[in-house]
Amino acid sequence: MPQRRIRNVIDSQLILAAPSITTVLSAARMMKDRNFGSLMVTEDGTVTGIFTERDALFRVIAEGLDPATTAIGSVMTPNPQTIHPDRPVGHALHMMFEGGFRHVPVVENGRPIGMVSSRDALGPELIEFTHELETRDHIADIL
Ligand code: AMP
Repeated sequence: MPQRRIRNVIDSQLILAAPSITTVLSAARMMKDRNFGSLMVTEDGTVTGIFTERDALFRVIAEGLDPATTAIGSVMTPNPQTIHPDRPVGHALHMMFEGGFRHVPVVENGRPIGMVSSRDALGPELIEFTHELETRDHIADIL
């Protein structure tokens, strides 16, 4: 599994990115809509930061900041570590382990093209299983 190329893992993935002036509230709503645990902060098409669910919890909620008036630029992690899509997934995992985070933006020619998360390392089989469960829940909601 760790030998899979990142390009294959992020294949057909949509990017979730927003400028640093975006409020935490709108960012959280975007993350909720897309079921993403993180968001890339971009300016002029390049990655300048990363904002994750952990930042929302530790740097906003726990600090008593107002999500409706706090800009993600003030609570993001600036200049995150990024990875090239031709690297193996294992390399991203190593970065996550060493850095103590669960997300790595994928950047090619200076532009973000996706995000690898520790969840991707759980393997396609588990992701498929999760998807099946989600589909089952969705069908149950409809019936
Ligand atoms: P996470 O475990 O990914 O939710 O992130 C834990 C902390 O590390 C948060 O403060 C994130 O903003 C930060 N973080 C997440 N990904 C990266 C990255 N690729 N490079 C640097 N910091 C990161």
